[in-house]
Amino acid sequence: MKMKCPICGKGTLKKGKIKEEMFGVYLGEFPAEICNNCNESFTDEKTTQAITNLAKEKGIWGLGKKTKITKAGNSLAVRIPKDIVNFLKLKEGKEAYIHPEANKIIIEAES
Ligand SMILES: [Zn+2]
Repeated sequence: MKMKCPICGKGTLKKGKIKEEMFGVYLGEFPAEICNNCNESFTDEKTTQAITNLAKEKGIWGLGKKTKITKAGNSLAVRIPKDIVNFLKLKEGKEAYIHPEANKIIIEAES
Protein backbone atom coordinates (compact mmCIF):
# COMPACT_ATOMS: atom_id res chain seq x y z
CA MET A 1 0.00 0.00 0.00
CA LYS A 2 1.26 3.45 -0.87
CA MET A 3 1.55 6.02 1.89
CA LYS A 4 0.13 9.45 1.19
CA CYS A 5 2.27 12.42 2.16
CA PRO A 6 0.93 14.03 5.38
CA ILE A 7 2.39 17.41 4.43
CA CYS A 8 1.07 18.10 0.92
CA GLY A 9 -1.55 15.33 0.77
CA LYS A 10 -0.87 14.86 -2.96
CA GLY A 11 2.34 12.89 -3.27
CA THR A 12 3.13 9.36 -2.21
CA LEU A 13 6.07 8.33 -0.04
CA LYS A 14 8.91 6.36 -1.58
CA LYS A 15 11.88 4.80 0.16
CA GLY A 16 15.08 6.73 -0.34
CA LYS A 17 18.04 8.30 1.38
CA ILE A 18 18.50 11.76 2.78
CA LYS A 19 21.68 13.64 3.57
CA GLU A 20 21.29 15.02 7.06
CA GLU A 21 22.97 18.23 8.12
CA MET A 22 22.67 20.25 11.31
CA PHE A 23 24.07 23.76 11.71
CA GLY A 24 26.32 23.16 8.71
CA VAL A 25 27.77 19.93 10.09
CA TYR A 26 27.23 16.90 7.86
CA LEU A 27 25.86 13.94 9.81
CA GLY A 28 25.58 11.33 7.07
CA GLU A 29 23.10 9.56 4.84
CA PHE A 30 20.00 8.05 6.37
CA PRO A 31 17.08 5.97 5.07
CA ALA A 32 13.84 7.93 4.78
CA GLU A 33 10.46 7.99 3.11
CA ILE A 34 10.46 10.82 0.59
CA CYS A 35 7.41 12.48 -0.98
CA ASN A 36 7.50 12.46 -4.79
CA ASN A 37 5.51 15.70 -4.88
CA CYS A 38 6.82 18.14 -2.25
CA ASN A 39 10.12 16.36 -1.49
CA GLU A 40 9.44 16.36 2.25
CA SER A 41 11.28 13.49 3.97
CA PHE A 42 10.29 11.39 6.94
CA THR A 43 12.56 9.24 9.07
CA ASP A 44 11.35 6.49 11.36
CA GLU A 45 11.83 6.63 15.15
CA LYS A 46 15.03 4.56 15.07
CA THR A 47 16.65 6.75 12.40
CA THR A 48 15.54 9.95 14.14
CA GLN A 49 17.16 8.66 17.35
CA ALA A 50 20.36 7.78 15.47
CA ILE A 51 20.51 11.31 13.99
CA THR A 52 19.94 12.80 17.46
CA ASN A 53 22.70 10.66 18.97
CA LEU A 54 25.16 11.62 16.22
CA ALA A 55 24.38 15.30 16.72
CA LYS A 56 24.99 14.90 20.45
CA GLU A 57 28.30 13.08 19.79
CA LYS A 58 29.43 15.92 17.55
CA GLY A 59 28.46 18.46 20.21
CA ILE A 60 25.93 20.26 18.03
CA TRP A 61 22.71 19.07 19.66
CA GLY A 62 20.79 21.97 21.17
CA LEU A 63 23.10 24.67 19.76
CA GLY A 64 20.09 26.57 18.45
CA LYS A 65 18.81 28.67 21.34
CA LYS A 66 16.72 31.69 22.16
CA THR A 67 18.61 34.82 23.05
CA LYS A 68 17.62 38.33 24.13
CA ILE A 69 18.37 41.49 22.21
CA THR A 70 19.53 44.17 24.62
CA LYS A 71 20.37 47.86 24.32
CA ALA A 72 24.01 48.89 24.05
CA GLY A 73 24.37 52.63 23.54
CA ASN A 74 22.67 53.54 20.27
CA SER A 75 22.91 49.98 19.02
CA LEU A 76 21.39 46.70 20.06
CA ALA A 77 23.43 43.76 21.25
CA VAL A 78 22.79 40.04 20.98
CA ARG A 79 24.16 37.75 23.67
CA ILE A 80 25.86 34.70 22.15
CA PRO A 81 25.21 31.62 24.32
CA LYS A 82 28.26 29.89 25.84
CA ASP A 83 27.65 26.63 23.92
CA ILE A 84 27.90 28.49 20.62
CA VAL A 85 30.96 30.42 21.85
CA ASN A 86 32.68 27.12 22.66
CA PHE A 87 31.55 25.39 19.45
CA LEU A 88 32.86 28.21 17.24
CA LYS A 89 35.82 28.93 19.54
CA LEU A 90 34.85 32.60 19.65
CA LYS A 91 37.01 35.01 21.57
CA GLU A 92 36.37 38.53 22.81
CA GLY A 93 37.96 41.08 20.52
CA LYS A 94 37.79 38.90 17.39
CA GLU A 95 36.41 40.46 14.24
CA ALA A 96 33.05 39.39 12.87
CA TYR A 97 31.11 40.34 9.75
CA ILE A 98 27.40 40.93 10.35
CA HIS A 99 24.75 41.24 7.65
CA PRO A 100 21.04 40.71 7.18
CA GLU A 101 19.57 37.89 5.10
CA ALA A 102 15.82 38.30 4.69
CA ASN A 103 14.59 38.30 8.32
CA LYS A 104 17.77 36.73 9.70
CA ILE A 105 21.03 38.15 10.97
CA ILE A 106 24.13 36.33 9.81
CA ILE A 107 27.26 36.78 11.93
CA GLU A 108 30.40 35.40 10.41
CA ALA A 109 33.22 35.21 12.92
CA GLU A 110 36.75 34.83 11.67
CA SER A 111 38.27 31.50 12.58
ZN1 LIG B 1 4.33 15.82 -0.03
